[in-house]
Amino acid sequence: MVNAEACFSPDYETARTRFRESATHAGAALHAIGLPTRGPRGEALCIDIAWIGSPHPRNVFLHTTGLHGVEAFTGAAVQLALLNAPPVPGSEDALVLVHVLNPYGMAWLRRTNENNVDLNRNFLVNGERFAGAPELYGVLDPLLNPTSAPAHDGFRVRAPAIAVKLGFHQVKHAIAEGQYEYEQGLFFGGRELQPGARMFSAWLQQHLSDADYVFGVDLHTGLGRRGTDTWLSSSTDTATAPATLSSALGRELVDPARPSVAYTVRGGYGAALRHLLPRAKIDFILQEIGTYPPLAILHALREENRWHFYGDGSIVHPAKLRLREVLCPAAGDWRRRAVTRGLTLACAAARWTFSRKG
Ligand SMILES: [Zn+2]
Repeated sequence: MVNAEACFSPDYETARTRFRESATHAGAALHAIGLPTRGPRGEALCIDIAWIGSPHPRNVFLHTTGLHGVEAFTGAAVQLALLNAPPVPGSEDALVLVHVLNPYGMAWLRRTNENNVDLNRNFLVNGERFAGAPELYGVLDPLLNPTSAPAHDGFRVRAPAIAVKLGFHQVKHAIAEGQYEYEQGLFFGGRELQPGARMFSAWLQQHLSDADYVFGVDLHTGLGRRGTDTWLSSSTDTATAPATLSSALGRELVDPARPSVAYTVRGGYGAALRHLLPRAKIDFILQEIGTYPPLAILHALREENRWHFYGDGSIVHPAKLRLREVLCPAAGDWRRRAVTRGLTLACAAARWTFSRKG
């Protein structure tokens, strides 16, 4: 059994090197999509992809991490553990691991990319416009996005009071749904499709357009009870009946629209997959591994964003380290559980994908 804690890397560059070495050792072909930005030490930033199996596959298991930058520390650890003993694809199948979709965010300890864009709000399809914001977001903007460096200002008291006044569910939805108006604000979806999202979309279309079936799992951290995971999948995310998939994988799929659980977003990556790969049947699950309570995470996001825009943005500042902690806790028990949870879904999904007939 792999040492789960040892799979966590201290920074992007180390994680990248280890991923590439492990992938090579596992016999994978490596692809790299170079991005036009740099890390804090001037290092190159790439979306690295490990490909095991047929170069022209019918069935594909596609595992992605790090769409939210700093959340990639956990996804990268899961992929290293997976590469230690990867599921074996059939002769017409492929296992595709995408290491860090937002390397800028991982390297700079941000959830967003180089343009402050939340990439899981950036995949707008069918000509949807990069414009608009929930009405309530404008009301919350001064509270969420102060135009000053990090400081104690009573956020942890003020935010719940405002949520009570305006309605908890409405506030949660307005904050997290995605907005396209406040460029320096949290959950900004961008003014256009971002370079990384565009290049990865093109890569998918180049390499997976002929596949019959693609099972995508996108790993995130933050939402849900600490150390437990939630498998989010809306009814439009799966070509397979959710009940069938759920019984094959051994766990319930949770609809993100269920108000007590999560929230729906505009411009999500999962929803874009079936538009990018129209020939394939697509099943998609967004896996969330719980860390800290939502208010603690929102507070950490807010302070890091202030440091980025109104401090010097250096990655050793407490606001950076706090964001990393709330999305990838240092505690050994959390890390062991997170890797186990990540491996459980990846292995079950890969098994299901590679057992498909016809
Ligand atoms: Zn996320």
